[in-house]
Amino acid sequence: KFFALMFLFCGAAWSQQVKNKAEIDAKVSELLSKMTLEEKVGQMTQITVTNFEDTKKPGYFDAVKLKQGIQDYHIGSILNVPNPGAPTTKRWQETMTAIANEANKTRLKIPVLYGIDAIHGASYTAGATFFPQQIGLAATFNTELVKRGAEISAYETRASSIPWIFSPDLDFPRNPAWSRMWESFGEDAYLSSKMAVALVDGFEGNNVGSKYSVASCMKHYIGYGSTTTGKDRTPSIIPERILRQYDLTIYQAAIKAGAKGVMVSSGEINGTPVHASKHLITDILKKELGFSGVVVTDWKDIIYLNTRHKVAETKRDAVRIAVMAGIDMSMVPEEFSFYTDLVDLVKKGEVPMSRIDDAVTRILRMKYELNLFQTTVADLKDYPKFGSQEHIQEAYNTAAESITLLKNNNAVLPLNKTEKILVTGATANSMKYLNGGWSYTWQGENSDTYAADKFTILEAFQNKLGKENVLYTAGADLEKEDDAEIQKAVELAKSASKIVLCLGEKNYTETPGDISDLYMSASQIKLALALAKLNKPIILVLNEGRPRLISNFEDKMNAVVQCYLPGNEGARALVDILYGDVNPSGRLPYNYPRYPNSLEKYNRKYTESISEGEQNNDAKYEKSYLPQFEFGTGLSYTTFSYSNLKIDKTEINKTDEINVSVDISNTGKVQGKESVLLYLSDNFASITPEVKALKRFEKIDLKPNETKTVKFTLNQKDLQFVNEDLKWISEKGTFTIQIGDQKKDFLLK
Ligand code: BGC
Repeated sequence: KFFALMFLFCGAAWSQQVKNKAEIDAKVSELLSKMTLEEKVGQMTQITVTNFEDTKKPGYFDAVKLKQGIQDYHIGSILNVPNPGAPTTKRWQETMTAIANEANKTRLKIPVLYGIDAIHGASYTAGATFFPQQIGLAATFNTELVKRGAEISAYETRASSIPWIFSPDLDFPRNPAWSRMWESFGEDAYLSSKMAVALVDGFEGNNVGSKYSVASCMKHYIGYGSTTTGKDRTPSIIPERILRQYDLTIYQAAIKAGAKGVMVSSGEINGTPVHASKHLITDILKKELGFSGVVVTDWKDIIYLNTRHKVAETKRDAVRIAVMAGIDMSMVPEEFSFYTDLVDLVKKGEVPMSRIDDAVTRILRMKYELNLFQTTVADLKDYPKFGSQEHIQEAYNTAAESITLLKNNNAVLPLNKTEKILVTGATANSMKYLNGGWSYTWQGENSDTYAADKFTILEAFQNKLGKENVLYTAGADLEKEDDAEIQKAVELAKSASKIVLCLGEKNYTETPGDISDLYMSASQIKLALALAKLNKPIILVLNEGRPRLISNFEDKMNAVVQCYLPGNEGARALVDILYGDVNPSGRLPYNYPRYPNSLEKYNRKYTESISEGEQNNDAKYEKSYLPQFEFGTGLSYTTFSYSNLKIDKTEINKTDEINVSVDISNTGKVQGKESVLLYLSDNFASITPEVKALKRFEKIDLKPNETKTVKFTLNQKDLQFVNEDLKWISEKGTFTIQIGDQKKDFLLK
């Protein structure tokens, strides 16, 4: 009976969705039929109304530009960026009311769609809950937790009257130096897909029009994170076979989850700027993957087809190329030139009206789905949980599950409260390094001021131990060498029994974060080496957006803890982990390189396997594969043992599923969470197979002596790859499955 009821219920929900969709489609075509060309092109325009002159009043916007944009150019969308950041929800309400009032004065009263980079919480609103940045979310390997965080971010963003966020980031970085590495989910496509779905589900919920949901925006389609140089917005070279095998699968998963928006990459692939690529935007994204939402450009990127990429001789031609490639909305077109040029292009027959109608249909549909025709301004009474303790606790939990223990020689951790600790390092006493970019301001410059009621790493130590019991000096600047400070740290360290050394990076967003050297800065290395001479245990805490190389001093560190960019609650979580009040359970979502020219991924090609009687020449590949820490590394204060590996069949045909199970026991003394990872290797294939690839994971919580069985089901798709004809295919042969304990594996035929 229960199942029958469930079925009826699901059926009812589904038919309701179909009905809503049909209703929305009808409303959209009715409205579209009433619109002039100018009104349509206006909808395709997204401007910023930030008053860059007035830096003193948070959230101030340029009212003259707002009026001009809406009344003269019929603009349909506004983005970012309150100035200088961190307006309250009340202030947002005022801004949105002003925008709604302007829109209401227009002939068709079409509401404006406001979008923002709320990428780790409602990060442009004072008092909002800040989660770890995306790279940390990936490290949790906990999709449920990540989804809950996204629900909270959606709630607090809607409380700020904003219905559209430019997240998740689905970039797939191939060079870890890239300055937006931390905005991604790391180097694995499967992990990225699962995390992408968790964010889209959390942001959009079952009904994106609810007052607690927001539309998402996948970015940056596609190949953006794969710059050859590692510098932001520089060219990528990615064969389409590879693009399909990895990058596209992440988008496919997020589109299936219902993602409403997508932002196009500012980069170029194989010589073609993505904004100019009909193949990538119309043929693959819209037609093949069936994406029915809004395709927005990135910042000024249509103009850049003319001025940067030089594939368009004029700005007008850049507009034609981009719109014909499939762009629906232009972000920040300089001085409304996009509008003027596009109207002219349609009038002269160079862009067909059908293309404009497709774009505007998508935009209006999103506005109806978001319920913007009913309400665009939040009623603050509906959001009692904004910035609440309950939300803060979730952000803390997420930070705690992201922090990754990479090394713990002789169980130097957890610390003991009776030990005298020196806390030092350039990142030890600042909120902005914990949050990184897109935090209150674009670069996160003022996060220290805005997050005055939050705790730095030093303060979290002081809260736990009492101020008088913690020794502190900065020890080093992030960039400048300061021998006097180093000397001070060395002197203080003499009276400490252990040193907590906090190193990392300045906060940066996009191109200003470009580097030419992946090593940790020289000033910080100098401090590490000076302290190491004392022969006292050193706990290295890494607070960084990308893996800055530490190979020239790592062997002198007794423990290494990666905390990524853990957000406003990160320091508390970190210090609780250092003292063993919380057991670490994060796993590294990328290979941490040891050398600047050794940037192999974990799923590299070639392992050692030699024919009988042959010299072991192949071993050279494994010898040169020496990441500092491998993808998936993550230690615990307890021990887990894997046993009873089972597979329900060892020979399968095309339709079979494969059920795999394994028992995991907590064999240590404290409770702990363990992410169980299943890797698959195709032993022989017509295209050189990867050494192994992650196919499933699940995070479990185990008390001491407790055992749980984890079950995974694999299907044909998991055994497939993209062949030379760009088709996903299965090939006959044997496969190997490994779980957790790398010594044990199954052979599957
Ligand atoms: C970034 C995007 C961001 C946009 C709007 C661009 O510079 O590349 O990620 O969403 O600005 O702020």
